[in-house]
Amino acid sequence: MNKDIEDLLPALVALRRDLHAHPELAFEERRTSSVVAVALRDCGLKVHEGIGGTGVVGVLRKGNSTRMVGLRADMDALPMREDTGRPYVSRHPGVHHGCGHDGHTAMLLGAAQQLARAGSFDGSIAFIFQPAEEGRGGAREMVRQGLFDRFPCESVFALHNWPDLPAGTVATRPGPIMAAADRFDIVVRGQGGHAAQPHRTPDVVLAASQLVAQMHTIVSRRIPPTQNAVLSVTRISGGQSHNVLPAAVELTGTVRSFDAGVQDTIEQAVRDVAAGVARASGTAIEVEYTRYYPATINSPEHAQLALEAARSVGLETQVAETPAFTSEDFAFMLQQRPGAYLWLGQRGSNHAAPLHHPSYDFNDDVLACGVRWFTAVAQMALR
Ligand SMILES: [Zn+2]
Ligand SMILES: [Zn+2]
Repeated sequence: MNKDIEDLLPALVALRRDLHAHPELAFEERRTSSVVAVALRDCGLKVHEGIGGTGVVGVLRKGNSTRMVGLRADMDALPMREDTGRPYVSRHPGVHHGCGHDGHTAMLLGAAQQLARAGSFDGSIAFIFQPAEEGRGGAREMVRQGLFDRFPCESVFALHNWPDLPAGTVATRPGPIMAAADRFDIVVRGQGGHAAQPHRTPDVVLAASQLVAQMHTIVSRRIPPTQNAVLSVTRISGGQSHNVLPAAVELTGTVRSFDAGVQDTIEQAVRDVAAGVARASGTAIEVEYTRYYPATINSPEHAQLALEAARSVGLETQVAETPAFTSEDFAFMLQQRPGAYLWLGQRGSNHAAPLHHPSYDFNDDVLACGVRWFTAVAQMALR
């Protein structure tokens, strides 16, 4: 790389703010994906649209090698209000780039521009812009529609801005970096009846209470102490009166884990505990257990490469001690191809808000860090 990126930055800041002002929800990123496609074509890339709905892939080829590496950014915003007071505030009320995917998209476009004009590598780089990272599985959809059959990447990399780290610092770790996220929805059913005659109907309130207590023993009693997981019951509802035993109580909650075996154990244990409580209480208990995202698992070799690439462009690097309990759709890509996911520090004096907060805004000061890291990691992966 013989040319720096400074001259690209003013236009990238403008692009990021334009995306911020026009946020779009999962699988509705039509304007965003057309901005992406135009920008990729402008740098001479071959562009493929409509993969996984609104997903876009641009391919940059240099030299003769058939090797290919993938870089991923996410494009969607969140259904939430914005309270940043910025001049480029969202023009779509109730939709906010509260997770900084506007910044991710701008950084990957900046990397495409830089690698197209000054990249030095032999092979192809696939710039993958995915829809619907926020809970709707846009990455899963792209993979399902043949992403890696059409673009046979040998490895794949992504980053997420990280308000817990200062701007200029990055972190990742070998193995799990983000959690698997599951959800359970449970209905405890009886017949209902008079509260003064509890012997004439199964008591669904008592059964639900026992179920909550039992479920909270699953992590501490069934998962080895060396493994991590969280189970939280987040909603319990049923009944309307002080003297009527209700006919049903509903429970909802979430499970986070970092290992497929642990995830399997917890799901089975939730079902077993529900079956046991149902039998003991004479209720009928239905369990719906939904796995949203698997754990995001870095290959040790690619996690190291991600940190080396960051050091090579002057970023402070840390090996994260623990993974985060939030989850990430990029996990579906890492199930198909080895690679790594990097946290890009973004905290600054004017950027202290956490992700998914109404006053969160992506820190444009770190655009350059992300562009440099993407360009470095792609070229190093193709060495
Ligand atoms: Zn998010
Ligand atoms: Zn995000």
